[in-house]
Amino acid sequence: MAVGVLALQGSFKEHIVALKKLGVEAVEVRKPEQLIGLAGLIIPGGESTTMAKLAEEYSLIPALKEFASGGKPIWGTCAGLIFLADKAVGQKSGGQALLGGLDCTVHRNFFGSQLNSFETELPAPAALTELGGTESFRAVFIRAPAIVDAGPDVDVLAALELPSGESGASSLEKKTEEKGKKVIVAVRQGNLLATAFHPELTSDSRWHSLFLKMLPKGGKAEVQQAKEQETE
Ligand code: GLN
Repeated sequence: MAVGVLALQGSFKEHIVALKKLGVEAVEVRKPEQLIGLAGLIIPGGESTTMAKLAEEYSLIPALKEFASGGKPIWGTCAGLIFLADKAVGQKSGGQALLGGLDCTVHRNFFGSQLNSFETELPAPAALTELGGTESFRAVFIRAPAIVDAGPDVDVLAALELPSGESGASSLEKKTEEKGKKVIVAVRQGNLLATAFHPELTSDSRWHSLFLKMLPKGGKAEVQQAKEQETE
């Protein structure tokens, strides 16, 4: 079982290291044919406009769409989240190709001008605590996007309460309808997982493990399930 990491630009190397630590074969993907036979794909953080342009140049968009519509799991982190969204708003959002599939509207640079990069501890969703570890996880945001609208089939896994009283908070709040509202920073919809933060830059491997659990037959989860059934 091999998992691909889209390696056009951005933090693909860190994802490869994280997958290898979990004993998974990780493959850099730059060409459409490299998607063949992969169990799943990670689209890393980076710069979504550049990534989309390169994906178009390398004729990857139709192959990626086919990969997703075939039900193969894809996890987008940060720029990868933007790429997976059905709609992107915010600075320079016009005209960039999106893979789509995630019934969400994402603001490309939601935290951009005020807080280019920050780290915070967020409550871990049940899907993560089931894998062990603490009740929270470290979320690293780098010029991060946020999901400002999500459809009914989207499972919200993590949300971030907007800072209030800090400089720039009022303009952040303007982007949401109510004061104190949380913005969504991690979701799952069917075979798609998306996080606005970068788990590959932390030592917590649970987000990668969660993604591995989504892999189709032959993936780690099925092997584990099969073993459990055998012993029942
Ligand atoms: N906001 C960036 C973009 O528009 C994404 C930043 C990131 O991936 N770290 O592409």
